[in-house]
Amino acid sequence: MRKNRKKLYSDFLQNYNDENLQAAKKSAVFATAFYLLFSLLDAYLAYPNYTQIVYTRVLFTSVLSLIISLVYFESFKKYWQAIYCIFVILAGLGVIIMSTYLKCPIKTLYAQGLLLVIFYGYTMNRLLLIPATIAGITISLFFTIVLFNTPEITPSAIITSLFFQAAANMFGIFNLSYHQRILFKEYSLKIKDTQRARNLISLNKKLKNLASTDGLTNIANRRVFDETLDSEIENSIRCKAPLSLIMLDIDYFKLYNDYYGHVQGDDCLKKIAKLLQAHTKGTEGLAARFGGEEFTILLPNYGQQKCIIFVDEIIKGLTSLQMENHDSNLSKYVTASYGVVTACENYHNLSAKSLVTSADSCLYEAKENGRNQFVTAKI
Ligand code: GH3
Ligand code: MG
Ligand code: MG
Repeated sequence: MRKNRKKLYSDFLQNYNDENLQAAKKSAVFATAFYLLFSLLDAYLAYPNYTQIVYTRVLFTSVLSLIISLVYFESFKKYWQAIYCIFVILAGLGVIIMSTYLKCPIKTLYAQGLLLVIFYGYTMNRLLLIPATIAGITISLFFTIVLFNTPEITPSAIITSLFFQAAANMFGIFNLSYHQRILFKEYSLKIKDTQRARNLISLNKKLKNLASTDGLTNIANRRVFDETLDSEIENSIRCKAPLSLIMLDIDYFKLYNDYYGHVQGDDCLKKIAKLLQAHTKGTEGLAARFGGEEFTILLPNYGQQKCIIFVDEIIKGLTSLQMENHDSNLSKYVTASYGVVTACENYHNLSAKSLVTSADSCLYEAKENGRNQFVTAKI
């Protein structure tokens, strides 16, 4: 559970980084331009000795530009949080260094600029809590060290500045940790929803599968056969294309059950179903369990001759399974009778009922004629 949460959190961070990089890039470019714009204020405040301060700002702007250009390289992209953390720290350092060129008390005005940089690190740059805190605290620490080492700054100015720095960092940390927690919660809910939706889809698939396959033999059931028959008949009428139906009934299966028991009887049905399924695989057809020990095979685009060849192969396949039927007087092995009907003439009269009835009559005839054979018809 703990491990799962850890993994979820690391996925969340990854997702956050992927989703926020674009916005972070834009905000960094915007911030760098703004940073350079402040050279106007530098020049105004330090006038007439502004060259040094303006050069310093230009130098820092160039370094910042170089740093932000790193995230445009594929290999650095994954480190963008660390890169922007350094970016914010350097922007802050620049402000601190520039403030040293100014005379006191104007110097303290740059403390406001510093707050601006800290604020930026906690908000616009899309930094996560830890890098944002590292940036904010590092800037404040540097500034505090500089303040303590600047003799002309009064203790009250230092205390005031420290208060503002501490407050800015605190607000940033509180706000960002709250925001990050909410984002994580939203992400967890989204993942749970996605998981639930996936489970539902897979459950639906299973249900659909259960509803369409025969429980014993695992091939299509009667419902699927009926539906497919309707649509294939429609197709056949529309395209005037032949459609064949084979109806297969195992011979003396009652005797088989009586002699070997129902469990082996089930096994025999499964093997025959598998055989029919395998033979139908390369075709556009469908093998289904029609009911009891009766199966159907629907073969679109199969004319009578092609269908007869197909039935012959099934008869051979059934023999090669070598399932003995002790009480059958027809053969040593399990046999079946087949009603084979091909719709290829009166398409306008074609219907599911006429096709099944005709296949059923052929099957009946095959049984009457002595079983272990097929009877074929055209409609
Ligand atoms: P025929 O050659 O005339 O078709 O004779 P038959 O014995 O095969 O036909 P009958 O209709 O008399 O018997 C069908 C048998 O099929 C009876 C029934 O117990 C068996 N049967 C039907 N469904 C299943 C099943 O799911 N499992 C097993 N083991 N037997 C089944
Ligand atoms: Mg039967
Ligand atoms: Mg039978």
